[in-house]
Amino acid sequence: MQYNKCPLKYFPSKHVKYKILANKNIVEKRFLHQSTMLFRRFRINFSDGFSFGFLAVSVVSVFIFEILIVLPEVEKRQNVVYIHSIIGSFIFISILGNLAKVILTDTSTKRIMLPSLLKPLWHFCSMCEANAPPRTHHCDRCNCCILKRDHHCAFAGRCIGLKNFRFFLVFLFYLSIGCFYASMFNMYFIWDYLGGFSLYSVVCHIVPFVFFIFGYLSFRVFIYTLLSVLALISGLLVFNLFILHARQMLSNQTTFERNNSIKTYDLGWKRNIVECLGEKWYMTLISPFFDSVLPSDGLSFSTNLNSNTVLPESYALNQNVRHRHV
Ligand SMILES: [Zn+2]
Ligand SMILES: [Zn+2]
Repeated sequence: MQYNKCPLKYFPSKHVKYKILANKNIVEKRFLHQSTMLFRRFRINFSDGFSFGFLAVSVVSVFIFEILIVLPEVEKRQNVVYIHSIIGSFIFISILGNLAKVILTDTSTKRIMLPSLLKPLWHFCSMCEANAPPRTHHCDRCNCCILKRDHHCAFAGRCIGLKNFRFFLVFLFYLSIGCFYASMFNMYFIWDYLGGFSLYSVVCHIVPFVFFIFGYLSFRVFIYTLLSVLALISGLLVFNLFILHARQMLSNQTTFERNNSIKTYDLGWKRNIVECLGEKWYMTLISPFFDSVLPSDGLSFSTNLNSNTVLPESYALNQNVRHRHV
């Protein structure tokens, strides 16, 4: 602590000494408060923690497996191995970088000074005991209101909302690309161990546990087959999720708005991309660390309604009811 280094004997009066001790107390309290806030910010429940752990271990395991075992075995030309290693590393870093940004970007209303008077199109959140802007919904798991809330992502342990949607979408993109990229090498690698492409090797991929238990697969080939299956199935599931959210981005809808056919914020696909990914949307694919300013601050949004248009019933309903959808 800075104050411990200050020798009190150099200060002439008791008044100054008490003042320093009081300041020290304030600094310590502030430090404790910040530590508590940091702990609360990263507090995650068991299912979120398990999902995140599974994702992190799977991504790291598949990357190491591909780079250290599969690639040198499949490709004998050293310069081609280097090229694939660089591409694979870029995909790996993009996956983890975007996932980290999804987790660390605060898209809640916690740090926003919300008005005490209920504005038109706003609603009151009884859990937060505060007024919430349009498109904001409360999340029971995060225990706060999320700006332009899409859904709660268990793998990140965070809600996907206005400010971290771009990272989430790019994370899905690179995760699906990475899974398919790994699966492409696995095809050559695993099928060699399983005796080429045949009905036997296909069934081995579907139920590797059964073949391992009955002794048809060694432990090493079983682990290889398991990682190969994991990459292929994950790739298909994640790509499906990516397409779903990319379509929502093109129509500027959240999951709730898509389910309730709310198309109020659809400004045409070009502007919708900017609304969701920011003005430098093309840079989001290169690195999660490039800034891309969003047109909306989360408190108000551009709509396709003119001032004389009557709001659709579903839209009005959205603003008056506190929705609990996890
Ligand atoms: Zn709330
Ligand atoms: Zn949440």
